[in-house]
Amino acid sequence: MTGVSPDCVEAQMQHDDRPPADLRSRSTGRRCAHCGGPVLADRGESALVPDSSVVDVDDPTRDGRRLVTACGSGHLQLLIDKARHDWRAGQLWFGRLCRASTQPRMSEAPLWLLGERAHLSIEDLQCALEWNADGDSPRTALPGGQPLPVREPRADRGSGGTGHQDGAESASVGSTATTSSRCRLGVAGTGDP
Ligand SMILES: [Zn+2]
Repeated sequence: MTGVSPDCVEAQMQHDDRPPADLRSRSTGRRCAHCGGPVLADRGESALVPDSSVVDVDDPTRDGRRLVTACGSGHLQLLIDKARHDWRAGQLWFGRLCRASTQPRMSEAPLWLLGERAHLSIEDLQCALEWNADGDSPRTALPGGQPLPVREPRADRGSGGTGHQDGAESASVGSTATTSSRCRLGVAGTGDP
């Protein structure tokens, strides 16, 4: 007898990407937030991690954290580490400021009053404004319409408006290295003697 056995070919074709039936029965239907793999009922782990982008519309006690699920303890720890690394206090304070700006009778409110309404200290408020001003596309007004201070354009960006496009010019690499202790943008509009 020569040639490949038909049984062998069939066995190879049956090998697909689906997990074995045993794994499917144990799956929770959820996916690991780190690797995207299935979360099995007896191995999956969940945790509340810090997330400065989360501001709950109705419940301030739910601000700043979210629930993540991972396929196991190793990936859960990686998610926790990343969440801690990505935390920006100013982002959370700014989110709270935005929420306060849309509350009733706040449309004409100055920033310091909005900060009080958002339960921010003056340092928190400055940190929030600093975070916004340092962003790629800072807001010039809060959702409620209140104007925000904007930072002066940096000197190294003004190139005379020649509009040169070299193509090979590398955009600034994401190494902004913000430190939450350096929040020094002033709260505008309160210093008129
Ligand atoms: Zn995973």
